[in-house]
Amino acid sequence: MQRDEQIFDLILDEQDRQINGLELIASENFVSDQVMEAAGSVLTNKYAEGYPGKRYYGGCEVVDIVEQIAIDRAKALFNAAYVNVQPHSGSQANTAVYAAVLKPGDKILGFDLSHGGHLTHGSPVNFSGKLYNPVFYGVDEATGVINYDTIEEIAKREKPQLIIAGASAYSRDMDFKRFREIADAVGALLLADISHPAGLIAKGLLSDPLPHCHIVTTTTHKTLRGPRGGMIMMGQDFENPFGLKTPKGETRMMSALLDAAVFPGNQGGPLMHIIAAKAVAFGEALQDEFMHYALQVQKNAQAMASAFVKRDYKIISGGTDNHMMLIDLRNKNISGKEAENALVKAEITVNKNMVPFDDKSPFVTSGIRVGTAAITTRGLVESDMETIVDLIDRVIMNHTNEEVIEQIADEVNEMMSERAMFVF
Ligand code: PLP
Repeated sequence: MQRDEQIFDLILDEQDRQINGLELIASENFVSDQVMEAAGSVLTNKYAEGYPGKRYYGGCEVVDIVEQIAIDRAKALFNAAYVNVQPHSGSQANTAVYAAVLKPGDKILGFDLSHGGHLTHGSPVNFSGKLYNPVFYGVDEATGVINYDTIEEIAKREKPQLIIAGASAYSRDMDFKRFREIADAVGALLLADISHPAGLIAKGLLSDPLPHCHIVTTTTHKTLRGPRGGMIMMGQDFENPFGLKTPKGETRMMSALLDAAVFPGNQGGPLMHIIAAKAVAFGEALQDEFMHYALQVQKNAQAMASAFVKRDYKIISGGTDNHMMLIDLRNKNISGKEAENALVKAEITVNKNMVPFDDKSPFVTSGIRVGTAAITTRGLVESDMETIVDLIDRVIMNHTNEEVIEQIADEVNEMMSERAMFVF
C-alpha cells in the first residue's frame, strides 16, 4: 500500500511546530518516547470489551496484564483503592461518574466555566448542563479565589446531589477537606476533577483529594504527562448510597457502579494502546525524576507569575500554586483573542480564556491562560521564564506590528529549535 505522504507530511509539520515554538497551553505536555511508542503500538488492533479476567473477546491474555499493570501503578501513584483506566478522555471519565451517581435532572454544583471551571461541570452547552440541573460556584471578585463559605451557602440553598471540585483555569490549591465538610452537610457526593494538577498532586505538591472526595477523575495527558485519556479513582470503595443490589441481593459497591458506567454504560472497547501508554506514563511518574519535574513545573509557574506581575499584568488571584495562571489583559487594552492570535504568529502558543466577571464573549475573552507543564518537559527553568514573559510582553505591546512579531518568532525559534522535545 502507498504511504500516505499527505498525512505524514502534516505530522512532520506539526512536529516542527511543536519543536520550534513555545508551548504554553496549560493543558498540554510532551510525552516521552516510550509513552509515544506504546501509544503507537499493535495494541491499537485489539478489542477487549470488559475488564481484566472478564472480557467479551478472546485473545486478551496479554492486554489483561497490561491493563492490570496500569491499574496497579495508578493505585500506587495516587494511593488509591480503586482505579478505572478505561475512560477515553477526561470528559468520558466525568460522563461515567455522573451516569453512576446521578439521574437525569439531578442537581450538580460545579465551578462556573467562566470563572475557570470545565465544560463537563455543568455548562449549558455540554451534556452535563443539559442532562442534569447545574448550579455554580465561582471566585470572589476582589480576591480571585474561591470562597468556601459562599460555596457552603450555595450548597445549603441548592442541595445538589453532587458537588464537583476542580477546574481548568484556576491557579490555586483546593481545600478538599472543606469541600467534603460542605458535601456532608448537604448529603451530596463529592467528585474532585484533578485533570490539570494531577501530576503535582501525585507527587504531594498540592492537597490530596483522595482521602476526602468520594470519587476523583483526571485526564492523563496534562501535568501527569501521559497519553490523551481519562481515569477514575477512589481513595476507598464504599457501598452505593442508592440501595442498589446485585442479582444475588448483595449491596453494590461504588466501584461496581463506576466500572459498569464506563463499560458498558458509556464506552465499548477500551483503547488498549492508550492504556499501555498510561501504564508507561504512570511508571515514569512513580520515579524520583518525576518529582524533580513536578517541582520544576511549579517553580517555573511561580517565576513566570512574578515576571508577569513585575510588568503590571493582572494574574487572577495574584499568583499561582500549581502549573498555570490566568491573566486578565483588560489593563493592556487587548482581548484574549487578539493576544492569542498575535502570540501564535510569534510561535508562542497560549489559549484565550474568559476571566471571572468577563465582559467579553467566550469567542473574544479578556484573558489568556498560560502553563508551564510542556516547557518544563523541554528543560526550561526559572531563569528562562523572564525571557519568555519578556517575549510575550513585547508581542502584546506590539500586537499589530508584523515586523516586531516576526523578529520575536525568530527569537523563539532560536531559543527552542535545538532543544529536545523531552529533556526533563
Ligand atoms: N476536566 C477538566 C478539569 C479539564 O480541564 C479537562 C480538559 O481540559 C477535562 C475534564 C476534559 O478532558 P478531555 O479533553 O480529555 O475530555
